[in-house]
Amino acid sequence: MSSNTSAACQSCRFFDEHKTNAGQASGDEGLCRFNPPVSQPEPQGHGLWPVVASKDWCGHFAADVTPAE
Ligand code: SF4
Repeated sequence: MSSNTSAACQSCRFFDEHKTNAGQASGDEGLCRFNPPVSQPEPQGHGLWPVVASKDWCGHFAADVTPAE
């Protein structure tokens, strides 16, 4: 599979610059909001958004929202 150099989480419409799920922030991380939160660690806990790096990407990449939207 060839790499897609134009896709990056930082320019994806589902990337949220909030860096953590209330944990320790580091580097260029953000939250992916493509899917609902996943796997609650305990019954009273909150679901977690997947943490991704700004230069990560996946097959659901969608260019960021344009001003016309
Ligand atoms: S993991 Fe995929 S859907 Fe989520 S922000 Fe990155 S490119 Fe977008």
